[in-house]
Amino acid sequence: MKQYDVAIVGGGISGLVASIYLAKAGYSVILLEKSRQLGGRGLTTRKKRAMLNLGVHAFYQDGVGESVLKELEIIIQQ
Ligand SMILES: Cc1cc2nc3c(=O)[nH]c(=O)nc-3n(C[C@H](O)[C@H](O)[C@H](O)COP(=O)(O)OP(=O)(O)OC[C@H]3O[C@@H](n4cnc5c(N)ncnc54)[C@H](O)[C@@H]3O)c2cc1C
Repeated sequence: MKQYDVAIVGGGISGLVASIYLAKAGYSVILLEKSRQLGGRGLTTRKKRAMLNLGVHAFYQDGVGESVLKELEIIIQQ
C-alpha cells in the first residue's frame, strides 16, 4: 500500500489549501473527500447559464481567503 506523509480528511477549501501548501513544502499528501465533488461549502453550481455560489461570495471583498488564493495563484472566476 502506498504511504503518505499527510492525510487530509475533507476536500473543502481548508483541505484543498492545506494540501497545496503541504505539497509545495515537499510532503506527499492524500486528500480524502466523501462526496463526489471537491469544494465543500465553497461550491459553485451551474443552473443553465447562471453560476450559483453556495458559500464563498465574500472572497471577492479582498479578505484573508482571497489573499491565500492569490498566493497560490488560484484565479477566482466571477
Ligand atoms: C450559505 C453560505 C454562505 C457563506 N458565505 C460565506 C461568505 O460570504 N464568505 C466566506 O468567507 N465564507 C462563507 N461561507 C462559509 C464558507 O463556505 C466556509 O467557511 C468554507 O467553505 C468552509 O470550508 P472548509 O473546507 O473548512 O469546510 P467545508 O467546505 O465544509 O468542507 C469540508 C469537506 O469535508 C468533507 N467531509 C466531511 N466529513 C468527511 C469524512 N468523514 N470523510 C471525507 N470527507 C469528509 C465534506 O464533504 C466537505 O467537502 C458560507 C457558507 C454558507 C453555507
